[in-house]
Amino acid sequence: MVGKYLIFLTQEEEIVINFIGKVFERYALLKKSNLPTKICPVCNLPFTWRKKWEKNWENVKYCSKRCRKN
Ligand SMILES: [Zn+2]
Repeated sequence: MVGKYLIFLTQEEEIVINFIGKVFERYALLKKSNLPTKICPVCNLPFTWRKKWEKNWENVKYCSKRCRKN
């Protein structure tokens, strides 16, 4: 959305801005949910506690199977 108004930006700058926007959106969402969160070391995005991780939340490092493979 931000990129639409900043048409003088290069494509790389637009990607960075979109990424930052995504991170802030997620943080806002997580703040609302009040669940424990971690930062995925692969995609650098925060992810939140899920029921399936109930027993091994301490060992969970990545947000998804895809990130774990990387
Ligand atoms: Zn990830």
